[in-house]
Amino acid sequence: MSDFDYDLFVIGGGSGGVRAARVAAGEAGAKVALAEEDRYGGTCVIRGCVPKKLMVFASEYGTVAEDAKGYGWDIEAGSFDWGNFQQRLNAELDRLEGIYRNLLKNSGVTSYDARAKVKDAHTVELSTGETITAKHILIATGGRPVRPEIPNAELGLVSDDIFHLETLPKSVLIVGGGYIACEFACILNGLGVEVTQYYRGAQVLRGFDEQARGLIAESMIENGVQLHCGTDIVEMRRATAEDLEGKAATGVSMGASMQEMLADHSGGKPGEGPIFVKGTNGDVKVYDQVFFATGRAPNTDDMGLEGAGVKLGRKGEIVVDEYSATEVPSIYAIGDVTDRVNLTPVAIREGMAFVETVFKDNPTKVDHELIPSAVFTQPEFGTIGLSEEEAAEQEPIEVYATSFRPMQTAFAGRPDRVMMKLVVSKETRKVLGCHIVAPNAGEMIQLAGIAVKMGATKEDFDRTVAVHPTMAEEMVTMRNPVRSA
Ligand code: NDP
Repeated sequence: MSDFDYDLFVIGGGSGGVRAARVAAGEAGAKVALAEEDRYGGTCVIRGCVPKKLMVFASEYGTVAEDAKGYGWDIEAGSFDWGNFQQRLNAELDRLEGIYRNLLKNSGVTSYDARAKVKDAHTVELSTGETITAKHILIATGGRPVRPEIPNAELGLVSDDIFHLETLPKSVLIVGGGYIACEFACILNGLGVEVTQYYRGAQVLRGFDEQARGLIAESMIENGVQLHCGTDIVEMRRATAEDLEGKAATGVSMGASMQEMLADHSGGKPGEGPIFVKGTNGDVKVYDQVFFATGRAPNTDDMGLEGAGVKLGRKGEIVVDEYSATEVPSIYAIGDVTDRVNLTPVAIREGMAFVETVFKDNPTKVDHELIPSAVFTQPEFGTIGLSEEEAAEQEPIEVYATSFRPMQTAFAGRPDRVMMKLVVSKETRKVLGCHIVAPNAGEMIQLAGIAVKMGATKEDFDRTVAVHPTMAEEMVTMRNPVRSA
Protein backbone atom coordinates (compact mmCIF):
# COMPACT_ATOMS: atom_id res chain seq x y z
CA MET A 1 0.00 0.00 0.00
CA SER A 2 1.23 3.49 -0.93
CA ASP A 3 2.39 5.85 1.83
CA PHE A 4 0.73 8.71 -0.03
CA ASP A 5 -2.89 9.81 -0.39
CA TYR A 6 -2.55 9.70 -4.18
CA ASP A 7 -0.14 8.40 -6.83
CA LEU A 8 -0.54 11.68 -8.71
CA PHE A 9 -1.76 15.13 -7.78
CA VAL A 10 -2.30 17.45 -10.74
CA ILE A 11 -2.46 21.20 -10.17
CA GLY A 12 -4.45 22.86 -12.97
CA GLY A 13 -7.53 21.68 -14.85
CA GLY A 14 -6.66 22.92 -18.33
CA SER A 15 -6.09 20.86 -21.45
CA GLY A 16 -2.73 19.42 -20.35
CA GLY A 17 -3.59 18.74 -16.73
CA VAL A 18 -6.95 17.14 -17.43
CA ARG A 19 -5.50 14.88 -20.12
CA ALA A 20 -2.60 13.74 -17.91
CA ALA A 21 -4.93 13.13 -14.95
CA ARG A 22 -7.48 11.09 -16.81
CA VAL A 23 -4.98 9.01 -18.76
CA ALA A 24 -2.95 8.31 -15.61
CA ALA A 25 -6.14 7.22 -13.82
CA GLY A 26 -8.06 5.62 -16.68
CA GLU A 27 -5.27 3.88 -18.60
CA ALA A 28 -2.48 3.46 -16.07
CA GLY A 29 -4.75 2.73 -13.10
CA ALA A 30 -3.15 5.38 -10.89
CA LYS A 31 -4.96 6.97 -7.96
CA VAL A 32 -5.24 10.58 -9.14
CA ALA A 33 -6.55 13.91 -7.83
CA LEU A 34 -6.66 17.28 -9.55
CA ALA A 35 -7.15 20.79 -8.18
CA GLU A 36 -8.52 23.69 -10.20
CA GLU A 37 -9.20 27.10 -8.68
CA ASP A 38 -11.21 28.46 -11.60
CA ARG A 39 -13.25 26.80 -14.33
CA TYR A 40 -12.36 23.37 -15.73
CA GLY A 41 -11.00 23.49 -19.27
CA GLY A 42 -8.42 26.21 -18.62
CA THR A 43 -7.33 28.93 -21.00
CA CYS A 44 -8.05 27.04 -24.21
CA VAL A 45 -11.62 26.09 -23.45
CA ILE A 46 -12.77 28.90 -21.20
CA ARG A 47 -10.85 32.05 -22.19
CA GLY A 48 -8.76 31.24 -25.23
CA CYS A 49 -8.84 29.08 -28.35
CA VAL A 50 -12.46 27.93 -28.17
CA PRO A 51 -14.35 31.17 -27.43
CA LYS A 52 -11.88 33.00 -29.69
CA LYS A 53 -12.61 30.66 -32.61
CA LEU A 54 -16.35 31.07 -32.07
CA MET A 55 -15.80 34.84 -32.18
CA VAL A 56 -13.83 34.42 -35.40
CA PHE A 57 -16.80 32.59 -36.91
CA ALA A 58 -19.18 35.29 -35.65
CA SER A 59 -17.03 38.04 -37.13
CA GLU A 60 -16.79 36.39 -40.53
CA TYR A 61 -20.54 36.47 -41.18
CA GLY A 62 -20.41 40.24 -41.66
CA THR A 63 -19.28 39.96 -45.26
CA VAL A 64 -21.44 36.98 -46.19
CA ALA A 65 -24.45 39.00 -47.35
CA GLU A 66 -22.31 41.21 -49.56
CA ASP A 67 -20.56 38.19 -51.09
CA ALA A 68 -23.87 36.42 -51.59
CA LYS A 69 -25.11 39.42 -53.59
CA GLY A 70 -22.18 38.84 -55.93
CA TYR A 71 -23.58 35.36 -56.45
CA GLY A 72 -27.04 36.64 -57.29
CA TRP A 73 -28.70 36.51 -53.88
CA ASP A 74 -31.04 39.33 -52.93
CA ILE A 75 -29.89 39.64 -49.35
CA GLU A 76 -29.05 42.41 -46.86
CA ALA A 77 -26.77 42.15 -43.86
CA GLY A 78 -28.50 42.73 -40.55
CA SER A 79 -26.78 43.87 -37.39
CA PHE A 80 -24.74 41.89 -34.92
CA ASP A 81 -26.23 41.31 -31.49
CA TRP A 82 -23.39 40.87 -29.00
CA GLY A 83 -25.74 39.98 -26.12
CA ASN A 84 -27.36 37.22 -28.12
CA PHE A 85 -24.01 35.81 -29.21
CA GLN A 86 -22.54 36.07 -25.72
CA GLN A 87 -25.46 34.17 -24.22
CA ARG A 88 -24.96 31.33 -26.70
CA LEU A 89 -21.20 31.45 -26.17
CA ASN A 90 -21.58 31.17 -22.40
CA ALA A 91 -23.97 28.25 -22.76
CA GLU A 92 -21.44 26.48 -24.97
CA LEU A 93 -18.61 27.10 -22.51
CA ASP A 94 -20.77 25.77 -19.66
CA ARG A 95 -21.41 22.66 -21.75
CA LEU A 96 -17.71 22.17 -22.46
CA GLU A 97 -16.75 22.72 -18.83
CA GLY A 98 -19.28 20.06 -17.87
CA ILE A 99 -17.64 17.67 -20.31
CA TYR A 100 -14.23 18.31 -18.78
CA ARG A 101 -15.54 17.69 -15.27
CA ASN A 102 -17.21 14.48 -16.41
CA LEU A 103 -14.10 13.24 -18.19
CA LEU A 104 -12.27 13.46 -14.90
CA LYS A 105 -15.08 11.90 -12.90
CA ASN A 106 -15.55 9.03 -15.34
CA SER A 107 -11.83 8.27 -15.27
CA GLY A 108 -11.93 8.04 -11.50
CA VAL A 109 -10.05 11.29 -10.82
CA THR A 110 -10.94 13.13 -7.60
CA SER A 111 -11.46 16.85 -8.31
CA TYR A 112 -10.87 19.63 -5.80
CA ASP A 113 -12.37 23.02 -6.64
CA ALA A 114 -9.58 24.83 -4.86
CA ARG A 115 -6.26 26.53 -5.31
CA ALA A 116 -3.32 24.24 -4.61
CA LYS A 117 0.19 25.15 -3.50
CA VAL A 118 3.23 22.93 -3.31
CA LYS A 119 4.41 22.44 0.27
CA ASP A 120 7.22 20.01 -0.39
CA ALA A 121 8.25 17.32 -2.87
CA HIS A 122 5.22 15.18 -2.05
CA THR A 123 2.72 17.52 -0.39
CA VAL A 124 0.20 20.06 -1.64
CA GLU A 125 -1.87 22.45 0.42
CA LEU A 126 -5.32 23.44 -0.72
CA SER A 127 -7.03 26.79 -0.20
CA THR A 128 -9.68 24.83 1.69
CA GLY A 129 -7.07 24.09 4.36
CA GLU A 130 -6.58 20.43 3.40
CA THR A 131 -3.10 18.97 3.09
CA ILE A 132 -2.69 16.12 0.63
CA THR A 133 0.27 13.89 -0.15
CA ALA A 134 1.11 12.35 -3.51
CA LYS A 135 3.91 10.24 -4.92
CA HIS A 136 4.07 12.58 -7.92
CA ILE A 137 2.93 16.16 -8.42
CA LEU A 138 2.23 17.56 -11.88
CA ILE A 139 2.08 21.33 -12.32
CA ALA A 140 -0.11 22.36 -15.25
CA THR A 141 -1.18 25.84 -14.18
CA GLY A 142 -0.77 27.50 -17.57
CA GLY A 143 -0.21 31.21 -18.07
CA ARG A 144 -1.97 34.52 -17.84
CA PRO A 145 -2.02 37.68 -19.94
CA VAL A 146 0.27 40.49 -18.81
CA ARG A 147 -0.08 44.25 -19.19
CA PRO A 148 2.93 46.41 -20.02
CA GLU A 149 4.44 48.39 -17.17
CA ILE A 150 3.10 51.81 -18.08
CA PRO A 151 1.09 54.25 -15.94
CA ASN A 152 -2.64 53.45 -15.90
CA ALA A 153 -2.19 50.12 -17.72
CA GLU A 154 -4.85 48.69 -15.37
CA LEU A 155 -7.44 50.70 -17.34
CA GLY A 156 -6.88 48.37 -20.28
CA LEU A 157 -8.46 45.00 -20.91
CA VAL A 158 -6.61 41.73 -21.47
CA SER A 159 -7.80 38.72 -23.45
CA ASP A 160 -9.52 37.15 -20.40
CA ASP A 161 -11.85 40.19 -20.22
CA ILE A 162 -12.98 40.26 -23.84
CA PHE A 163 -15.48 37.44 -23.51
CA HIS A 164 -17.19 39.15 -20.54
CA LEU A 165 -17.77 42.62 -22.02
CA GLU A 166 -21.34 43.69 -21.38
CA THR A 167 -21.45 45.58 -24.64
CA LEU A 168 -19.11 45.75 -27.58
CA PRO A 169 -17.05 48.95 -27.60
CA LYS A 170 -17.48 51.31 -30.54
CA SER A 171 -13.75 51.88 -30.72
CA VAL A 172 -10.79 49.97 -29.37
CA LEU A 173 -7.02 50.36 -29.33
CA ILE A 174 -5.27 46.99 -29.44
CA VAL A 175 -1.66 47.00 -28.26
CA GLY A 176 0.66 44.24 -29.47
CA GLY A 177 1.48 42.47 -32.69
CA GLY A 178 1.40 38.79 -31.72
CA TYR A 179 -1.20 36.04 -32.26
CA ILE A 180 -3.72 37.46 -29.81
CA ALA A 181 -3.42 41.09 -30.92
CA CYS A 182 -3.83 40.26 -34.60
CA GLU A 183 -6.61 37.74 -34.10
CA PHE A 184 -8.67 40.14 -31.98
CA ALA A 185 -7.98 43.07 -34.30
CA CYS A 186 -9.60 41.01 -37.08
CA ILE A 187 -12.42 39.68 -34.89
CA LEU A 188 -13.45 43.06 -33.48
CA ASN A 189 -13.08 44.73 -36.88
CA GLY A 190 -15.34 42.05 -38.35
CA LEU A 191 -17.91 42.68 -35.60
CA GLY A 192 -18.06 46.35 -36.54
CA VAL A 193 -15.79 47.84 -33.86
CA GLU A 194 -13.49 50.65 -35.00
CA VAL A 195 -10.10 49.03 -34.44
CA THR A 196 -6.75 50.78 -34.07
CA GLN A 197 -3.69 48.60 -33.45
CA TYR A 198 -0.33 49.76 -32.13
CA TYR A 199 2.64 47.45 -32.60
CA ARG A 200 6.06 48.54 -31.39
CA GLY A 201 8.02 46.59 -34.04
CA ALA A 202 8.31 47.01 -37.79
CA GLN A 203 5.86 44.28 -38.77
CA VAL A 204 3.25 42.23 -36.89
CA LEU A 205 3.62 38.50 -36.13
CA ARG A 206 7.34 38.64 -35.43
CA GLY A 207 9.13 35.35 -36.02
CA PHE A 208 6.85 34.13 -38.79
CA ASP A 209 7.60 34.10 -42.53
CA GLU A 210 8.03 37.71 -43.68
CA GLN A 211 6.05 37.41 -46.89
CA ALA A 212 3.14 35.89 -44.96
CA ARG A 213 3.30 38.61 -42.30
CA GLY A 214 3.29 41.25 -45.02
CA LEU A 215 0.19 39.85 -46.73
CA ILE A 216 -1.68 39.45 -43.43
CA ALA A 217 -0.88 43.02 -42.35
CA GLU A 218 -1.87 44.35 -45.78
CA SER A 219 -5.18 42.44 -45.69
CA MET A 220 -5.92 43.60 -42.15
CA ILE A 221 -5.46 47.21 -43.22
CA GLU A 222 -7.55 46.68 -46.35
CA ASN A 223 -10.30 45.18 -44.19
CA GLY A 224 -10.36 48.30 -42.01
CA VAL A 225 -7.91 47.77 -39.14
CA GLN A 226 -5.96 50.96 -38.53
CA LEU A 227 -2.59 49.32 -37.99
CA HIS A 228 0.29 51.47 -36.78
CA CYS A 229 3.64 49.66 -36.67
CA GLY A 230 6.61 51.18 -34.91
CA THR A 231 4.11 52.72 -32.50
CA ASP A 232 3.61 52.48 -28.76
CA ILE A 233 1.67 54.30 -26.06
CA VAL A 234 3.23 57.49 -24.66
CA GLU A 235 0.37 58.37 -22.31
CA MET A 236 -2.80 56.62 -21.26
CA ARG A 237 -5.41 57.82 -18.77
CA ARG A 238 -9.13 58.08 -18.20
CA ALA A 239 -10.53 60.64 -20.70
CA THR A 240 -11.57 63.98 -19.25
CA ALA A 241 -14.50 66.15 -20.30
CA GLU A 242 -12.01 68.31 -22.16
CA ASP A 243 -10.75 65.34 -24.19
CA LEU A 244 -14.31 64.44 -25.05
CA GLU A 245 -15.29 67.98 -25.97
CA GLY A 246 -12.92 67.61 -28.87
CA LYS A 247 -9.73 69.24 -27.64
CA ALA A 248 -8.20 65.93 -28.67
CA ALA A 249 -9.09 64.29 -31.95
CA THR A 250 -11.55 61.76 -30.61
CA GLY A 251 -13.10 58.61 -31.93
CA VAL A 252 -16.55 60.02 -31.13
CA SER A 253 -18.74 62.54 -32.89
CA MET A 254 -17.87 66.17 -32.30
CA GLY A 255 -20.27 68.81 -31.15
CA ALA A 256 -22.48 66.57 -29.06
CA SER A 257 -22.93 67.41 -25.41
CA MET A 258 -20.61 65.86 -22.86
CA GLN A 259 -23.36 63.61 -21.55
CA GLU A 260 -24.26 62.35 -24.97
CA MET A 261 -20.67 61.61 -25.72
CA LEU A 262 -20.17 59.75 -22.50
CA ALA A 263 -23.30 57.78 -23.21
CA ASP A 264 -22.00 57.11 -26.68
CA HIS A 265 -19.02 55.28 -25.26
CA SER A 266 -20.13 51.82 -24.46
CA GLY A 267 -18.33 48.61 -23.68
CA GLY A 268 -17.13 49.45 -20.19
CA LYS A 269 -18.13 47.99 -16.89
CA PRO A 270 -20.10 50.26 -14.52
CA GLY A 271 -17.97 53.20 -13.45
CA GLU A 272 -15.66 52.87 -16.38
CA GLY A 273 -15.32 55.30 -19.20
CA PRO A 274 -13.43 56.12 -22.33
CA ILE A 275 -9.64 56.20 -22.32
CA PHE A 276 -7.37 58.89 -23.65
CA VAL A 277 -4.25 57.66 -25.42
CA LYS A 278 -1.30 59.48 -26.91
CA GLY A 279 0.84 57.43 -29.28
CA THR A 280 4.51 57.70 -30.21
CA ASN A 281 3.28 58.44 -33.73
CA GLY A 282 1.76 61.70 -32.45
CA ASP A 283 -1.85 60.45 -32.59
CA VAL A 284 -4.06 61.60 -29.76
CA LYS A 285 -7.38 59.84 -29.45
CA VAL A 286 -10.10 58.69 -27.10
CA TYR A 287 -11.05 55.00 -27.24
CA ASP A 288 -13.87 53.15 -25.57
CA GLN A 289 -11.47 50.40 -24.61
CA VAL A 290 -7.76 49.68 -24.75
CA PHE A 291 -6.88 46.01 -25.10
CA PHE A 292 -3.40 44.81 -24.18
CA ALA A 293 -2.29 41.70 -26.06
CA THR A 294 1.29 42.12 -24.96
CA GLY A 295 2.23 38.58 -24.08
CA ARG A 296 1.60 36.01 -21.37
CA ALA A 297 3.42 34.94 -18.21
CA PRO A 298 3.59 31.48 -16.61
CA ASN A 299 1.36 30.97 -13.54
CA THR A 300 3.99 30.23 -10.92
CA ASP A 301 3.46 33.09 -8.46
CA ASP A 302 2.86 32.16 -4.85
CA MET A 303 2.79 28.42 -5.52
CA GLY A 304 5.52 27.40 -3.12
CA LEU A 305 7.61 26.10 -5.99
CA GLU A 306 11.00 27.57 -5.19
CA GLY A 307 10.62 26.64 -1.53
CA ALA A 308 10.12 23.04 -2.62
CA GLY A 309 13.27 23.17 -4.76
CA VAL A 310 11.64 23.64 -8.20
CA LYS A 311 13.77 25.86 -10.43
CA LEU A 312 12.16 28.80 -12.20
CA GLY A 313 13.49 30.56 -15.29
CA ARG A 314 13.81 34.26 -16.07
CA LYS A 315 10.13 34.70 -17.00
CA GLY A 316 8.98 32.67 -14.00
CA GLU A 317 8.55 29.51 -16.08
CA ILE A 318 9.22 26.10 -14.54
CA VAL A 319 12.47 24.71 -15.87
CA VAL A 320 12.01 21.12 -17.04
CA ASP A 321 13.98 18.54 -19.00
CA GLU A 322 12.75 16.81 -22.14
CA TYR A 323 10.64 14.45 -20.02
CA SER A 324 8.95 17.46 -18.32
CA ALA A 325 10.78 16.63 -15.07
CA THR A 326 11.72 19.51 -12.74
CA GLU A 327 14.76 19.63 -10.47
CA VAL A 328 12.67 17.80 -7.84
CA PRO A 329 12.38 14.13 -8.93
CA SER A 330 8.73 13.76 -7.83
CA ILE A 331 7.54 17.03 -9.45
CA TYR A 332 6.84 17.43 -13.18
CA ALA A 333 5.41 20.33 -15.18
CA ILE A 334 3.70 20.56 -18.56
CA GLY A 335 2.09 23.16 -20.80
CA ASP A 336 2.33 26.95 -20.82
CA VAL A 337 3.72 27.06 -17.27
CA THR A 338 6.95 25.64 -18.74
CA ASP A 339 6.94 28.21 -21.59
CA ARG A 340 8.18 25.82 -24.25
CA VAL A 341 5.74 25.81 -27.20
CA ASN A 342 2.61 27.44 -25.80
CA LEU A 343 -0.10 25.62 -27.71
CA THR A 344 -2.91 23.40 -26.41
CA PRO A 345 -2.06 20.31 -28.48
CA VAL A 346 1.54 20.54 -27.29
CA ALA A 347 0.45 20.65 -23.63
CA ILE A 348 -1.69 17.58 -24.28
CA ARG A 349 1.26 15.75 -25.87
CA GLU A 350 3.42 16.70 -22.91
CA GLY A 351 0.75 15.35 -20.54
CA MET A 352 0.56 12.05 -22.41
CA ALA A 353 4.36 11.73 -22.52
CA PHE A 354 4.48 12.39 -18.77
CA VAL A 355 2.05 9.53 -18.13
CA GLU A 356 4.06 7.19 -20.39
CA THR A 357 7.28 8.14 -18.60
CA VAL A 358 6.07 8.06 -15.01
CA PHE A 359 3.20 5.57 -14.96
CA LYS A 360 3.84 3.22 -17.87
CA ASP A 361 7.56 2.67 -17.49
CA ASN A 362 8.10 4.00 -21.01
CA PRO A 363 10.30 7.12 -20.89
CA THR A 364 8.89 9.39 -23.62
CA LYS A 365 10.21 12.74 -24.78
CA VAL A 366 7.90 15.21 -26.46
CA ASP A 367 8.84 16.02 -30.02
CA HIS A 368 8.82 19.81 -30.27
CA GLU A 369 10.07 19.87 -33.87
CA LEU A 370 7.94 20.81 -36.87
CA ILE A 371 4.73 21.71 -35.07
CA PRO A 372 2.03 23.01 -37.40
CA SER A 373 -0.01 25.94 -36.13
CA ALA A 374 -2.49 28.53 -37.26
CA VAL A 375 -3.12 32.17 -36.51
CA PHE A 376 -6.82 32.90 -36.89
CA THR A 377 -6.50 36.27 -38.51
CA GLN A 378 -8.57 37.20 -41.55
CA PRO A 379 -7.12 35.87 -43.80
CA GLU A 380 -6.02 32.89 -41.72
CA PHE A 381 -2.39 31.82 -41.50
CA GLY A 382 -1.28 28.17 -41.41
CA THR A 383 2.38 27.44 -40.96
CA ILE A 384 4.87 24.67 -40.29
CA GLY A 385 8.64 24.58 -40.24
CA LEU A 386 11.12 27.30 -41.04
CA SER A 387 10.30 30.71 -42.43
CA GLU A 388 12.13 31.65 -45.62
CA GLU A 389 14.44 33.87 -43.56
CA GLU A 390 15.27 31.16 -40.98
CA ALA A 391 15.85 28.54 -43.68
CA ALA A 392 18.12 30.83 -45.72
CA GLU A 393 20.31 31.33 -42.65
CA GLN A 394 20.60 27.60 -42.22
CA GLU A 395 21.37 26.38 -45.76
CA PRO A 396 20.93 27.12 -49.49
CA ILE A 397 17.23 27.12 -50.36
CA GLU A 398 14.73 27.49 -53.16
CA VAL A 399 11.47 29.32 -52.58
CA TYR A 400 8.28 28.32 -54.39
CA ALA A 401 5.51 30.83 -53.82
CA THR A 402 2.34 32.07 -55.39
CA SER A 403 -0.16 34.75 -54.46
CA PHE A 404 -3.51 35.06 -56.16
CA ARG A 405 -7.15 36.09 -55.81
CA PRO A 406 -9.12 32.98 -54.85
CA MET A 407 -12.11 32.07 -56.96
CA GLN A 408 -14.83 32.38 -54.32
CA THR A 409 -14.16 35.93 -53.17
CA ALA A 410 -12.82 37.18 -56.53
CA PHE A 411 -16.14 36.24 -58.16
CA ALA A 412 -17.96 38.17 -55.43
CA GLY A 413 -15.84 41.19 -56.24
CA ARG A 414 -13.59 41.20 -53.19
CA PRO A 415 -9.89 42.03 -53.63
CA ASP A 416 -8.69 39.37 -51.12
CA ARG A 417 -5.45 37.59 -51.95
CA VAL A 418 -4.08 34.30 -50.70
CA MET A 419 -0.52 33.01 -50.57
CA MET A 420 1.02 29.53 -50.72
CA LYS A 421 4.70 29.01 -50.13
CA LEU A 422 7.15 26.14 -49.90
CA VAL A 423 10.69 26.66 -48.65
CA VAL A 424 12.85 23.86 -50.03
CA SER A 425 16.37 22.68 -49.19
CA LYS A 426 18.57 22.77 -52.31
CA GLU A 427 20.63 19.90 -51.03
CA THR A 428 18.07 17.41 -49.69
CA ARG A 429 15.02 18.76 -51.63
CA LYS A 430 13.07 18.47 -48.35
CA VAL A 431 10.32 20.98 -47.70
CA LEU A 432 11.70 22.92 -44.73
CA GLY A 433 8.74 25.23 -44.37
CA CYS A 434 5.19 25.52 -45.65
CA HIS A 435 3.21 28.75 -45.22
CA ILE A 436 -0.37 29.36 -46.24
CA VAL A 437 -2.30 32.62 -45.94
CA ALA A 438 -5.86 31.86 -47.01
CA PRO A 439 -9.35 31.18 -45.73
CA ASN A 440 -9.19 27.89 -43.80
CA ALA A 441 -5.39 27.85 -43.88
CA GLY A 442 -5.50 26.15 -40.46
CA GLU A 443 -7.34 23.21 -41.98
CA MET A 444 -4.92 23.04 -44.90
CA ILE A 445 -1.74 23.19 -42.84
CA GLN A 446 -2.89 20.33 -40.64
CA LEU A 447 -2.74 18.04 -43.68
CA ALA A 448 0.27 19.60 -45.40
CA GLY A 449 1.93 19.28 -41.98
CA ILE A 450 1.81 15.48 -42.18
CA ALA A 451 3.82 15.52 -45.40
CA VAL A 452 6.34 18.02 -44.05
CA LYS A 453 6.68 16.09 -40.79
CA MET A 454 7.31 12.91 -42.79
CA GLY A 455 10.16 14.68 -44.55
CA ALA A 456 8.48 15.10 -47.93
CA THR A 457 10.58 16.58 -50.71
CA LYS A 458 9.42 19.15 -53.22
CA GLU A 459 9.24 16.30 -55.73
CA ASP A 460 6.88 14.38 -53.41
CA PHE A 461 4.58 17.40 -53.45
CA ASP A 462 4.91 17.55 -57.27
CA ARG A 463 4.05 13.84 -57.65
CA THR A 464 0.73 14.46 -55.94
CA VAL A 465 -2.09 15.19 -58.37
CA ALA A 466 -3.91 18.48 -57.87
CA VAL A 467 -7.45 18.59 -56.49
CA HIS A 468 -9.18 20.94 -58.87
CA PRO A 469 -10.52 23.58 -58.49
CA THR A 470 -9.20 24.37 -55.02
CA MET A 471 -6.84 26.93 -53.55
CA ALA A 472 -4.64 24.22 -52.08
CA GLU A 473 -3.90 22.68 -55.48
CA GLU A 474 -1.28 25.41 -55.93
CA MET A 475 0.79 23.56 -53.33
CA VAL A 476 1.46 20.78 -55.84
CA THR A 477 1.60 22.81 -59.05
CA MET A 478 4.34 25.37 -58.35
CA ARG A 479 6.89 24.39 -61.00
CA ASN A 480 9.65 27.01 -60.81
CA PRO A 481 11.27 28.61 -57.81
CA VAL A 482 10.56 32.34 -57.48
CA ARG A 483 13.97 32.83 -55.89
CA SER A 484 16.95 31.03 -54.42
CA ALA A 485 18.94 32.07 -51.40
P1 NDP B 1 3.05 37.11 -28.13
O1 NDP B 1 4.25 36.95 -27.26
O2 NDP B 1 2.88 36.29 -29.34
O3 NDP B 1 2.92 38.63 -28.57
C1 NDP B 1 3.05 39.68 -27.66
C2 NDP B 1 3.06 40.97 -28.46
O4 NDP B 1 3.06 42.09 -27.59
C3 NDP B 1 4.31 41.09 -29.32
O5 NDP B 1 3.91 41.70 -30.52
C4 NDP B 1 5.21 41.98 -28.49
O6 NDP B 1 6.08 42.74 -29.27
C5 NDP B 1 4.20 42.89 -27.84
N1 NDP B 1 4.65 43.42 -26.56
C6 NDP B 1 5.19 42.72 -25.53
N2 NDP B 1 5.45 43.55 -24.50
C7 NDP B 1 5.09 44.79 -24.90
C8 NDP B 1 5.14 46.07 -24.29
N3 NDP B 1 5.61 46.23 -23.06
N4 NDP B 1 4.69 47.13 -24.99
C9 NDP B 1 4.22 46.97 -26.24
N5 NDP B 1 4.15 45.80 -26.87
C10 NDP B 1 4.58 44.71 -26.20
O7 NDP B 1 1.85 36.97 -27.11
P2 NDP B 1 0.31 36.75 -27.31
O8 NDP B 1 -0.25 37.29 -26.05
O9 NDP B 1 -0.20 37.28 -28.59
O10 NDP B 1 0.17 35.17 -27.36
C11 NDP B 1 0.77 34.37 -26.35
C12 NDP B 1 0.95 32.95 -26.82
O11 NDP B 1 -0.31 32.32 -26.86
C13 NDP B 1 1.50 32.81 -28.24
O12 NDP B 1 2.89 32.85 -28.28
C14 NDP B 1 0.95 31.48 -28.65
O13 NDP B 1 1.83 30.48 -28.26
C15 NDP B 1 -0.34 31.37 -27.89
N6 NDP B 1 -1.49 31.62 -28.76
C16 NDP B 1 -1.71 30.81 -29.83
C17 NDP B 1 -2.77 31.02 -30.68
C18 NDP B 1 -2.96 30.15 -31.85
O14 NDP B 1 -2.35 29.10 -31.91
N7 NDP B 1 -3.78 30.55 -32.81
C19 NDP B 1 -3.72 32.12 -30.43
C20 NDP B 1 -3.40 32.91 -29.29
C21 NDP B 1 -2.32 32.67 -28.50
P3 NDP B 1 7.48 42.16 -29.83
O15 NDP B 1 7.13 41.34 -31.04
O16 NDP B 1 8.25 43.37 -30.15
O17 NDP B 1 8.07 41.35 -28.73
